[in-house]
Amino acid sequence: MPDATPRYLAPFHPKRVPHHFADVLIIGGGLAGLRAALAVDPKLSVLVITKDSLLQSNSNYAQGGIAGVLDPEDRFENHVADTLVAGADLCDKQVVEMVVREAPARIHELIAWGARFDEESGGLALGREGGHSHFRIVHALGDATGKEVMRAVIERIRDLPNLQTWQNTFTLDLLTHEAVCRGALVWNERHGKTLVWAKQTILCTGGAGQIYRETTNPEVATGDGHAIAYRAGAELRDMEFMQFHPTVLYIAGSSRNLITEAMRGEGARLIDRNGDRFMPEYDARAELAPRDIVSRAIVSQMEKTRHPSVYLDLSHLDAARVRSRFPGIAAVCAEFGLDIARDPIPVRPGAHYMIGGVTVDLEGRTTLPGLWAAGEVTSSGLHGANRLASNSLLEGLVYGAHAGTGASRAAEKIADDFRGLPLENPTEPEVGEPLDLADIRNSLRSLMWRNAGVRRTGAGLAEAAESIDRWCSYVLNRQFAATPGWQLQNMLEVARLMISAARKREESRGVHLRLDFPATDNEHWRRQIAFRRS
Ligand SMILES: Cc1cc2nc3c(=O)[nH]c(=O)nc-3n(C[C@H](O)[C@H](O)[C@H](O)COP(=O)(O)OP(=O)(O)OC[C@H]3O[C@@H](n4cnc5c(N)ncnc54)[C@H](O)[C@@H]3O)c2cc1C
Repeated sequence: MPDATPRYLAPFHPKRVPHHFADVLIIGGGLAGLRAALAVDPKLSVLVITKDSLLQSNSNYAQGGIAGVLDPEDRFENHVADTLVAGADLCDKQVVEMVVREAPARIHELIAWGARFDEESGGLALGREGGHSHFRIVHALGDATGKEVMRAVIERIRDLPNLQTWQNTFTLDLLTHEAVCRGALVWNERHGKTLVWAKQTILCTGGAGQIYRETTNPEVATGDGHAIAYRAGAELRDMEFMQFHPTVLYIAGSSRNLITEAMRGEGARLIDRNGDRFMPEYDARAELAPRDIVSRAIVSQMEKTRHPSVYLDLSHLDAARVRSRFPGIAAVCAEFGLDIARDPIPVRPGAHYMIGGVTVDLEGRTTLPGLWAAGEVTSSGLHGANRLASNSLLEGLVYGAHAGTGASRAAEKIADDFRGLPLENPTEPEVGEPLDLADIRNSLRSLMWRNAGVRRTGAGLAEAAESIDRWCSYVLNRQFAATPGWQLQNMLEVARLMISAARKREESRGVHLRLDFPATDNEHWRRQIAFRRS
């Protein structure tokens, strides 16, 4: 794949921009980034950068909960086995074991920091979601786990005197010198571009759902961290694996709210436009089958019934319990005249969780010295080819803690040196017509939805590659002065890697379904596809 991207997105010269020095720089203030911040030794200075406010992250929108073995009837072996089954032979078993065994401690730590999880009969209320053999999901505020957990963690970091947050600050690129990460080039309205020099850097920029037209992810999830790490020379893996959430609210005019899997855990049934329950025809686990199976079944049923959605039906369940267990979704649906306890809720799949990302080891170290990473931006080996529900907040907590500890120890060994390095990126003369960025962005998102969505073919992927390469040829080498241009460049870069990996993987596995290669091919493809900038 030819590299059309310049090393840095924007011009800078050390004599013309302010400099800032931190011991540990954390890019991203979702659960992974803030957990990392809490693991850094209080003697060290920490700077956390978020591109929007601290309240805009996938973490804040998480609904269902966090998985962990907390029920005496459950066993670590069960959680490990469920994760491995979902991952379709591509998980790293050592990673799965480590994360699962650490889960109870990480959940109790959140409770100690003030997170209030829902309780039942004097203990933690444990939910069950698709692919889990036991009740093991802690949740909060019914269906707003992320909001509550982030509230507790944000309060905790506010008490740290060694920590600064720069919100509404866009990270353009990692700074590298002699193949070591030295910090980042960032931009905000107040200071313009700034060179942040850091002894160690942790990347926690979350997912990339916005690359698709239909997605559960908020605006911030444009895959910046994936593109930033790639340009800096770090290895990325598993880019073909985008998980689609099967049940995203589909009402014209409403935002694409996710309808949590926990609803199916509580007994909600999927029905088509004719009122027929269809999941048992597709899988013995019916509505509790893993997400990829439910997503595909929904797409097939939509096609069979020639209808743009299917429906979630809770009318056979206790109405009071339904409304109290899912207050957030009840309120959104009520705005559109739907009572979730009585009316069928229209849903269809949407891009939800980016499995692929920056390769990390058990400690959260990337392949680029000086750079660590945690959370959705990574490929740790936990999810394999398909993520088990509620394992991702857990991954952010475990890897956030590891990366924070590792970066802290590494930074402690480096003496202060308040000098910048001789790095610069010269200004290129402005070329050609101004571009309609929104037009290219919308075209990209529609193309990805059509050609690299739930069901893929070699021909569709080839067509997508051709369009994306054409757009890359005149967008990636431009120099933009603001976030929309840089974000589009990142989205194109990430889409290119996703398509390239999806074309290479000539089989179906986990969330990657190739209609032209419907079987799983363990002989050739029981391995990961990695990319590194040449
Ligand atoms: C609607 C929804 C429901 C979900 N429900 C669950 C659930 O119940 N259980 C579960 O386990 N998982 C769930 N997930 C997935 C889970 O929320 C995410 O995988 C997880 O929160 C990712 O955390 P993170 O810290 O890696 O990234 P995020 O929480 O997304 O944080 C990313 C951070 O990076 C910053 N950032 C991004 N780009 C830049 C840039 N260029 N410069 C500076 N800062 C940048 C953002 O501002 C943000 O602060 C859900 C996801 C969604 C969208």
